[in-house]
Amino acid sequence: MSFVEFQGVTKIYKSGDATIKALDNIHFSFEKGSFAVILGPSGSGKSTLLNLLGGMDFASEGSILVNEINITKMDKGQLTLYRRNDIGFVFQFYNILPNLTAYENIDMAYRLSKSSISSEEAIEAVGLKHRMNNFPSQLSGGELQRVSIARALCKNPNIMLCDEPTGALDSETGKMILKILQEMSAKYNTTVIIVTHNAVIADIADTVLRLKDGKVESVVKSDNPLKVE
Ligand code: ADP
Ligand code: ADP
Repeated sequence: MSFVEFQGVTKIYKSGDATIKALDNIHFSFEKGSFAVILGPSGSGKSTLLNLLGGMDFASEGSILVNEINITKMDKGQLTLYRRNDIGFVFQFYNILPNLTAYENIDMAYRLSKSSISSEEAIEAVGLKHRMNNFPSQLSGGELQRVSIARALCKNPNIMLCDEPTGALDSETGKMILKILQEMSAKYNTTVIIVTHNAVIADIADTVLRLKDGKVESVVKSDNPLKVE
């Protein structure tokens, strides 16, 4: 059964007289607990798709169903709760607050949500217990990304949206991050969606959506994606 479903979604940006169709009548679905990758060149509409699914912007046309609820019908207040409780965000440059410790960054997200995964459990899941009282300036890029994954995980989100999560990391560290995301998706049945232009990541996904010029070029599902070792 599909958990995320885009039905004829179009996004048009207007700036002055110019209009840009960033997404053009998109249809696709992802299943619950899937580990999906969205691939496409710069300008193909990846960020736009993520912004719509994350409830950060409104579609111009079409429906977006998450767990059978049409989020395009939500008002601003409902969308705020949806962002807070249903979606975990992981960014390329971490977005960690510099004057809070790793633990405090994570616990702040936990306190705002109604989650069953404690901050401690989330820190444990990313293997960062020994660093939890450190400040961001004392942590490496890989450790910062683990903080941001734990911060997303402790909301026990239905969907984790990751925008180029390995983009700022060397390949070994990137692999570790992908391994954590893959294991987490399996353990908590979280639907993980990674946006990237790095085609190598597609090998470890069970669903690969390719975007081109705002259109779906292909959706490929795989029964036995590569496990990150
Ligand atoms: P990337 O492809 O590296 O993820 P972005 O998604 O931020 O980069 O931007 C992709 C394209 O969209 C760029 O050409 C950028 O100029 C354009 N763009 C992004 N945000 C805006 C905006 N707010 N207004 C106009 N153009 C934008
Ligand atoms: P990607 O993330 O794949 O690089 P985007 O979703 O950022 O692609 O952009 C898709 C298209 O929409 C691009 O042509 C981009 O310039 C345009 N675009 C993105 N954001 C804005 C915006 N806020 N205002 C105007 N145009 C935008």
